[in-house]
Formats: sequence, structure tokens, C-alpha cells
Amino acid sequence: MTSTNKSKNTFALTTPVYYVNDVPHIGSAYTTIAADVVARFERLRGKPVLLITGTDEHGLKIQRAAQSAGLTPQEHCDTIAAAFDKLWHQLDIQYDRFIRTTSPRHQSIVLEFFQRVWDSGDIYSGRQQGWYCVSCEEFKEERDLLDGHRCPLHPNKEAEWRDEQNYFFRLSKYQSRLEALYQERPDFIAPESRRNEVLSFVAQGLQDFSISRVNLEWGFPVPADPKHTLYVWFDALLGYVTALLEPDQEPTLSQALATWWPINLHLIGKDILRFHAVYWPAMLMSAGVPLPEKVFGHGFLTKDGQKISKTLGNVIDPADLVSRYSSDAVRYYFLKEIEFGKDGDFNETRFVNILNADLANDLGNLLNRTLGMARKYASGCVPGVAGADIPSDNPLKARGLTLGEEVARAYESLAFSSGCEAILALVRACNKYIDDRAPWTLHKQGQQREVSEVLYSVLESVRLAAYLLSPIIPNISTEIYRQLGFKLQPLPELTPQTGQRAAAGHLDLVALKEPAPSALPEAAAPTAAPAFEAASPAQGQRWSKVLRPFAQAPAYLADALAETKGLLIAVLLLLLAIFAGNALVELARRTDRIPVVSPTLEAIGIGYTIWFIYRYALFAAGRQALFGNLQSLKQEFFGGNSPAAKIKTPPLALSTDTSPSAEGVSALPPLEAQPFAPDSPARYIDFNDRAAIAAAAPFSTHSRWGTLPASQPLGEAKPVFQRLQSAEPVSPSR
Ligand SMILES: [Zn+2]
Repeated sequence: MTSTNKSKNTFALTTPVYYVNDVPHIGSAYTTIAADVVARFERLRGKPVLLITGTDEHGLKIQRAAQSAGLTPQEHCDTIAAAFDKLWHQLDIQYDRFIRTTSPRHQSIVLEFFQRVWDSGDIYSGRQQGWYCVSCEEFKEERDLLDGHRCPLHPNKEAEWRDEQNYFFRLSKYQSRLEALYQERPDFIAPESRRNEVLSFVAQGLQDFSISRVNLEWGFPVPADPKHTLYVWFDALLGYVTALLEPDQEPTLSQALATWWPINLHLIGKDILRFHAVYWPAMLMSAGVPLPEKVFGHGFLTKDGQKISKTLGNVIDPADLVSRYSSDAVRYYFLKEIEFGKDGDFNETRFVNILNADLANDLGNLLNRTLGMARKYASGCVPGVAGADIPSDNPLKARGLTLGEEVARAYESLAFSSGCEAILALVRACNKYIDDRAPWTLHKQGQQREVSEVLYSVLESVRLAAYLLSPIIPNISTEIYRQLGFKLQPLPELTPQTGQRAAAGHLDLVALKEPAPSALPEAAAPTAAPAFEAASPAQGQRWSKVLRPFAQAPAYLADALAETKGLLIAVLLLLLAIFAGNALVELARRTDRIPVVSPTLEAIGIGYTIWFIYRYALFAAGRQALFGNLQSLKQEFFGGNSPAAKIKTPPLALSTDTSPSAEGVSALPPLEAQPFAPDSPARYIDFNDRAAIAAAAPFSTHSRWGTLPASQPLGEAKPVFQRLQSAEPVSPSR
């Protein structure tokens, strides 16, 4: 009964169902950002994901908050729930379900669940005496309270003495089964410190807890005794179940649990650990429902080393932070700077410094300067190198090859900070590598192949970093992909030729068109995003490369026709055809004479040929393909890397066959699969587009170093992250 169904390849996770006594604070934002990052990572891995968040809207604290604001409880809840929803949008949280516990469908689920627990004989009426913290909505043990019966979590508030008749849940009955659970599934509670906390709490002996309140109007009435209102936590935890219902599904437990249950991960703050790691599994055991897989309790946040509280006046407003610094900045700071699971601090000066150092300097400047060099030394394209041909002692490749797996493990264990560190280490290695190799000097010395290797390995490392960071900074990653030349819009007009050209190699015909403004991310509105196409076989590539210039001529022509000048050219071609036809007829009639082509026709023919060659040579990809193919051809037939070939080689002419390690044609290393079919519309990448992510090849493909398509024309360079101005001096109002 307590086993979970791990065979399902889906991933369901929850944030807490947030209590709406006040607008969202930074702690709620922190949990939700982390949840969104996990969800985005699992989606990159190709899993169907359900991210649940919502608001817990019942209870005494809400009733009092509404009263003091002069609102009805429902009005109050509507306002606050909207504030949560708005903040999640500002933070680019892609949730799937937003459960509000005041919804009628939720009431049906709660009542059915209550009935099951009732039928198990786990609910009884008894007398509740004790200290109640309204802010926690929890009875406190005398031993847990501070002097003056103040709650340790709310030291400025005194707990209230209660002596009333309540319904109780028989938690004590589950003592041994809970202990067995923690024993059998040591990863049920994480991190380790939280698990130990729970173990020692349970070891003290579990006491039944009351699940109803009297003299409280704002909540669901207890079915057996409507004078009682269901305890807010009993109600709130079941929000995770109600949220699983499809919008049109009948609100029953069996319907709700059918598809996504058991939840894979409950992400919470450590203040609500007992509810999730002790009460919740016991309630589920009583109702005969399988248990979730994991409860992860993260730490508390402080500001400038101090506890955050309204009384201290040092509350951080997450909405304000996002509007001043962008969602990527906020997401990055909290996940990179604070080890998830431990307590962490927010300090605005450090915030600015870290973002400037990591995102503006290390990552942003790296991309910017490399694109500048690619413009100068590689005609604005990714050099024509295959990642597989870069020698494995290249420091970036050596690091990049294992990075994907390392970062995946970090995401899996919610070690966001160490994941970021590993990615940033590659980025910093890139900056050092450029300085060491000095491509500007290599270029002056005519060592074009080395220049290509340097530029390719840096650009590919930036791509990998952007991909691996995309769950955390989706907007910056998307911008980096755009600047690396990935199309942000599908190009359906090329689809009929896609298969053929995909098999032919890396050349991107799309590049032959002048960049269209519609290719910018804000205009991206894909109608379809098919999966990345399968790789072309290695053996086929060499021969297709030889044939490529010939095979592509019609495509260049079609491209030319599609332009505004196309009509004129078409007319000229038509005239050419008519004249040529006439000439043939003339030739056939007078077989003893060679036909004389009219001077006009001759001029048109020569003009078109010159124009065609110009078009082919002008645009980077065309030029790249032309020279690359010529060199390949030379290698096919003469072999080796003659010095002459090097000198004559134009900037982008490194073919995939001329890496320093390749000893002639026979010793070519096998080409790795190319996950990005060059002209596939699916090269479209937008890390906020869930349909595209779902359709894309899985994480294992994209997270492999060396998959940046060679010769891909690069996009327009601009700062991916604007340097932040120094924060204003911190002045906590005390
Ligand atoms: Zn409290």
C-alpha cells in the first residue's frame, strides 16, 4: 500500500498550497522557483510533468486577516490568490494546476477522504486542551513554546489557550508504520537534516491531533457534526489530490488519483515539515492511499543576516525584486547562491555582484566577444567543425563531455547550487581558454584551423551552458540560443526538402535569406515543433558532401526566386528558355551549322551566372559550403593537409575531415550523431515554449558537448544580461 508507482515515466510535484493570510513573501517565491526549475528540468528530459501550486484559503488566521481588512473572507482570498498568480507569472513559473481550497470540487474530495478515514475508525471525539498558535494554525506542545507561551516561529505572538471538544485523528496508531516507512525509504524525507528532525520528533511518541475546530466559520463543516469545522491542515493537504483532477472530471478520489498519483515530490519550507512528513503520510495510510515519493524541506531565508519579519521591517517583496532585476536574475540568485536545503541569506549588494560576475561578465561577455571574433574570423558563422573532430584533449571538450550528466545528477538531487557551479566552471574555462589560445594571434599567423577549433569549442560550450542553465534562466538561455543562430520560428516553406537536405550535412539554407525580423523571439509563434530528426549516418556524410553543391543548386535558385527580384529573374529565365528552345529548333533544322546565340541572350545568360555565383559566395553559409566542399573534394582525391591547402583556405574552410587528429581519409574518426537536423523546423528553440520542449529530443541528446551545428550562421549579438547597477545602501528600518 505504501509503495509508489515508479514505473510511470511522469513527474508530478507540488509547492505548498500557500496560506493566503498575506501577499506572497520571498519564502513562497523561493519554493516555487525551485519547483519550477525541477519541473522544467524534467520536461527537458522528455517527461510529462504536472506542477501543482495553489492557495490554502481556510482557517482562523484568514478569517481574522479578512476582518481586519474589512473584507469578507472570500473577497480577501480572491485578492490574495490573484497576487500569488500574478507573481508566478512575473517569475516565469510554468505551473499546471492552481488549486484553491475554497473551490467546491475540493470540498467533495475532502469529504470523501474524511469518510474513508472515519470508516477506518481513526476519527474520534475528544477534549482538546492546549496552546494554539494561530499563525501556525497548530496546537503546540508546552515543551516547544518559549517563555510567555510564545511560539518559536512567531515569537511576537502569544499562543492562545484552548479547552474545547474536537474531533481527533488517531495519529498514535501509525507510530510504528511511520517508523517503518522512514526506515524502508530513507529518501522519503530530504535533506538528511530534515529526516533526522522528523525521526527525533516521532521518537518522542506521536500524539493524536485534533482535526476540527469549534467557533470557526471559515472552513468546511465536519460531515458527522456540522457545528465543527474541519481543521485547516486536514483540508489543505488534500489540495494536492484535488489539483490532480482534470477540469472536466467528476470530483472523486478515484478519479483524482488515477493518473498522476503518487506525487513524486512535495517541495516545502522546513516550517511545515511535520505536516508533510508525519501527518500527511499517516492520513494517507488511514485512507488506503499510496504515499508520495519524497518530501523535501528547504531552509529559511534571512536578509543581511537577520531573520525576515514585518516587525523588523526588512521584508523582501519578491514582486518588487523581479520588476527591478528581471525574473532570471531573481531565480538565478536564490538557486545559485543558497545551497538548497540549508538556510540562506539575501543581501542586495551580493545579489548585484553575483549576477554581474556570473551572468553579465563570465557568461554574457564570453558570448559577446566570441561572436565578435566569429564575425571577424569566421564570416559570422559557427566554424565548419564537427564537435566529434575536436581532439579530446581540448580542455573545453574534456570538461563538456561529462558536464551534462553531472548537472543532471545535481538537478535530480535538487543540488541547484552545485549544478550552477559546475556549469559556470565550464564558462570560466572558456574565458581562460580564449586568453591562452589568443585566436586573434592565430588568425594573424594564418592558423585558420586552430582559430576554427577555438571558436567552435567556445561557442559549443556556451550553448551547452545555456541549455543546462535553461531551467533556471529560461529567458537568457533562449536569447543565447538565438544569438548562436538557432531559429526561433519554424520554417514550414522548407519542409518538403528537409529530409534530403538533412541527410546532406550541416549547411543551413535558411541562412541564405536575409534575416527576417519575424525570426526574433517575441514574434515566435510556432504552429508545430516536431522532434529533432534522427542523425544522418556517418558514412553517407562524406559522399553527400561531395555531391552537396550540385544537389543544392535548385534550392539556391528557389531561394532566389522567392525574393522580390524573383519576378524579374523568372521573366528573364523564361525568355532564356524561349530563346534556347528556338536555338535548338534552329540547330535541328540546320545540322550543318552551329546556331548563333543572340548577343542579348548571351548577356542575360552570363549575367545570371555571375549573379548566381555572387549569391552563392556572398552569404556566409553558401561560401562556407562552397569552400568546405571544395576542400573535402580535394581531400577525397589527394588526401593529407598540404600547406598549400591551408594558405588558400578562406576563413571558414575547415571541413569536418581536416582535424589535426585525422590522418587522412582512412583514419577519419566516426562522426557523432548530429541531433540537430540542419534545416529541420525543430531547430526552433524557446525555453519557455513547452510544446517545443516536449517535442524536442531529450536531455541526453542536447546535453552532449559537440552538437552545435557546424557552419550555422550566427544571430545578431547583444548583451544577454544587462549589467546591474550597484544596489542602494541597505538600510533596514529598525
Ligand atoms: Zn507559530
